Amino acid sequence: MAATDFDLFVIGAGSGGVRAARMAAQRGARVAVAEDAPLGGTCVNLGCIPKKLYSYAAHYAEAFEESHGFGWSNDAAPSFDWAVLKANRAREIGRLNSIYGRLLTDAGATVLTARAHVIGANAVEVGGRVYTATNILVATGGRPVVPALPGAEFAITSNEIFDLPVFPKRLVVVGGGYIACEFASIFRGLGAQVTQLYRGEQVLRGFDADVRNFVAAEMRKKGVDLRTGADVERIERGADGLQVHLRDGAVITADSVLYATGRQPNTAGLGLQELGVALSPEGAVIVDEHYATNLPTLHALGDVIDRIQLTPVALAEAMTLVDRLFGSGQRSVDYELIPTAVFTHPSIGTVGLTEHEARARFGKVRIYRSDFKALKHTLSGNTERTLMKLVVDDASDRVVGLHMVGADAGEIVQGFAVAMKAGATKAVFDSTIGIHPTAAEEFVTMRDAVA
Ligand code: FAD
Ligand code: NDP
Repeated sequence: MAATDFDLFVIGAGSGGVRAARMAAQRGARVAVAEDAPLGGTCVNLGCIPKKLYSYAAHYAEAFEESHGFGWSNDAAPSFDWAVLKANRAREIGRLNSIYGRLLTDAGATVLTARAHVIGANAVEVGGRVYTATNILVATGGRPVVPALPGAEFAITSNEIFDLPVFPKRLVVVGGGYIACEFASIFRGLGAQVTQLYRGEQVLRGFDADVRNFVAAEMRKKGVDLRTGADVERIERGADGLQVHLRDGAVITADSVLYATGRQPNTAGLGLQELGVALSPEGAVIVDEHYATNLPTLHALGDVIDRIQLTPVALAEAMTLVDRLFGSGQRSVDYELIPTAVFTHPSIGTVGLTEHEARARFGKVRIYRSDFKALKHTLSGNTERTLMKLVVDDASDRVVGLHMVGADAGEIVQGFAVAMKAGATKAVFDSTIGIHPTAAEEFVTMRDAVA
């Protein structure tokens, strides 16, 4: 008889947990996964997927407008029904939840639908029952944080915004990261009057400066009232809605106030402190390069380790851990050149170093930049512009940073990320034939360095 109930006990059925559980079970391991929310975690239920569906919805307002320049007319003014979007999203997410359940059970994993606590180096308690496991994986993700301020109870987070009972005609968004910028764009597109308040000088800290300035300008052009250097002092409920008081004395009235001011790892109450598992001051689980904690049987990955909070990163970490526990142990995650997209309107796609980072690392770099009106907008009447930028290490000629703001930036940058991982030089870019007429061809036709 086996010494433990399971070879692997996974806590959390989000991006990382489901992938680890499924892959381990497929390799013949005895696997359990505990989850107290719908299967799929943040990405499926409250993140990537519903966000992208809402982003698609938001693009239609412009598409209706743009169609006139191409000869289309529609007599009735288009109208948007929030209830229809919410219901259709919920149906699709429900379908995905079932698929996740099937993937797990078909692979042979045991799914326990309850909250889990770690009670020993090889023991987990779920719904009053104790299970033993040779390995435990903490893949509990994170949750949004709203800073303490008077009236914080009136604020909502990305968890609530998808299902607001009434569409917020006036929305204040606080923050300047991925979530704040995406939701400001989405709700503006859906027809809300959006004020975005960011405490710093420019949104999207960490992204290339040209990208940050360009996307902020484009978002403003589309009607987002983006205010930088803006600090909220308090939120009050007034007769006409929520009153957001800024430190400079300005007051903004809104139907909803979305706080998108970062996320914290889900480790509170999990039993980790009691076992002496090392946590960062923010509560993230500290792991080594093999995703092991200071308790060798306990592992963690994904948002709970607070490295890079992206679904494909959690998936890669999960496959690496499973390979280590149940395979050859050859696999590892390359944290360099992770491409990412921000689904603002227009969207951002980026891979590699910012100009600033490249100058610090390589000294001499060449910058290629192009800022243009996409062909579609010569007739559409839309004033949106596209930015493309290449950062090249002068000594090796390697393209070390590639950035885009424009339609389908994520779709375009994914392929270029492969080229950059393969070490493509600017000469290789130059010798690549473009696909005409596309926006993407600009990346292989930028000839003259601008800096
Ligand atoms: P999660 O997916 O958060 O899963 C953790 C799971 O653990 C949850 O289901 C939770 O209920 C469960 N859990 C927690 N505690 C317990 C417990 N004690 N017992 C049992 N279960 C527990 N990433 C992208 O790559 N692209 C995007 O476009 C994108 N958009 C996003 C948009 C938003 C609004 C947000 C919030 C995030 C977005 N992300 C995006 C990030 C992405 O969702 C996360 O990086 C990813 O979900 C992390 O996966 P994970 O497995 O670490 O955690
Ligand atoms: P981010 O860390 O990206 O951004 C947080 C923002 O809130 C920053 O602008 C920060 O400002 C600001 N902020 C932090 N604390 C305060 C405060 N007390 N008062 C006012 N402003 C504050 O977090 P998000 O919540 O936007 O997203 C979390 C992560 O989820 C992302 O980093 C990303 O990894 C992932 N994600 C990915 C997406 C994608 O792939 N498209 C989409 C959405 C999320 P400052 O810059 O000054 O610190």
